[in-house]
Amino acid sequence: MTTPMEDAPRSELQLSPERMHELASLASRLLIERIEGLPGEPAWRGGSRAELEALMREDPPEEGRPAEEVLERAVRDILPVAGRTDHPRFFAFVPSQPTWPGILADFLAAGHNTFQGTWLGASGPSQLEVVVIDWFRDWIGYPEGAGGLFTSGGSAASLDAFVAAREAAGAPEWATVYMSDQHHTALSRAARIVGIRPDRIRSVPTDDRFRMDLEALRTSVARDRADGYAPIAVCGNAGATNTGAVDPLVEIADFCEAEGIWMHVDAAYGGFAILSDEGRRLLRGIERADSIAMDAHKWLFQPFEAGCLMVKDVRKLEAAFSVHPEYLQDTQWGHDHPNFGDRGLQLSRSFRALKVWMSIQTFGMAAFRRAVASGIDLAHRAEAYVRDSANLEIANPASLGVVCFRFNPRGSGLDDARIERINERVQARVIETATAMMSSTRLRGRYSLRMCILNHSTTWEDVRGTLEAIERFGEEIVEGDPA
Ligand SMILES: *Cc1c(COP(=O)(O)O)cnc(C)c1O
Repeated sequence: MTTPMEDAPRSELQLSPERMHELASLASRLLIERIEGLPGEPAWRGGSRAELEALMREDPPEEGRPAEEVLERAVRDILPVAGRTDHPRFFAFVPSQPTWPGILADFLAAGHNTFQGTWLGASGPSQLEVVVIDWFRDWIGYPEGAGGLFTSGGSAASLDAFVAAREAAGAPEWATVYMSDQHHTALSRAARIVGIRPDRIRSVPTDDRFRMDLEALRTSVARDRADGYAPIAVCGNAGATNTGAVDPLVEIADFCEAEGIWMHVDAAYGGFAILSDEGRRLLRGIERADSIAMDAHKWLFQPFEAGCLMVKDVRKLEAAFSVHPEYLQDTQWGHDHPNFGDRGLQLSRSFRALKVWMSIQTFGMAAFRRAVASGIDLAHRAEAYVRDSANLEIANPASLGVVCFRFNPRGSGLDDARIERINERVQARVIETATAMMSSTRLRGRYSLRMCILNHSTTWEDVRGTLEAIERFGEEIVEGDPA
């Protein structure tokens, strides 16, 4: 038996147990202070390249310096100069606040240096990934033979999905894919990366609520078939990033089944909304998709990176990705022992399933359901507030936590160009005054403010306070510039 020895020889890159303890305690103390202090901090900080160059540009030192100094510098000068996506008033892009068990899981996985590419390399972690993926399978309502893998995010998941779809279709030369004009650019880029020519990536028009127009899809596919193209995938949105819009998934599934085309659902944003009653209702039909991309670093409150690809028949994913080089010949344990490196483009992979598992074990599903439902509910309340306000106007109703609106006093008669300028200034003022972090978008070419409410710690006070500030800023801007 061996015992750990305090004075065992150490490499120059190792620290003593006491030093490791000290540094880990310091890191966790600083982290907890940051998280506890979030509501009192601005939701965003940034810096210009010139400022940050002055702060950080240096050659790597030949000799080391005290680790505390290095750690404190990272936490003081580098990490905070960023969007605080976990801040309760961060409503821009896609916010989320990771759970503490999820954060610790990343620490533990890094500390074990888990190699999650093969069953031989990590049997326990691979089994846990199977278990968590099976949880997702059950939430979606997928059959037994479904499976998938954790990825860095939705972009990587879409890429893997397109490869599976292309291979399942026999890799036709004239491969063509279809997505709505509200698709996330990760999708069109993934299509480009897998070799689908830009002129074969079809952008299908959407209806007045930004959902894919099925007639337009039908027409496009029929025309392409007649012209000799090979439709290999139709992508539905399950929560468009712009508006939270959900495409008519049941109709898309009917169409894809009839046409024999792979159906992919981009649920990177909205997938985990399925844990709430409203989300489940909105996402009806998702279980008929051949593949689904979901981001646990969005609505499942995990630290980056935690994307996921689910495939209804996991054998199709493995058929597209498995490779058997001689230097991995010891890793073939048979069908029941998946090598996750054979399900996607990464061989060396981190152990991402652990954070989801630890979070859910700690808090339980009921708490997660309520946390997801709360974002959806707050967005509905924000919509109601906007509709009641004489100064604000809805640009798109709340859908899966996203509400789009603009400052436009009722009966003001302001023209569109003027409204746009005012709203740009409102948006800038929200950030300058550290009221909240917001982002804007364009809906059919029209400038719109966009509030995305996902954070489980966001309260109605946070949302209402931000909407009130937007009204006030708008009024001040109009008064100051009555032209
Ligand atoms: C975030 C998002 C993506 C991209 O996912 P990443 O995790 O950023 O790679 C794709 N589609 C939608 C709808 C998204 O919200």
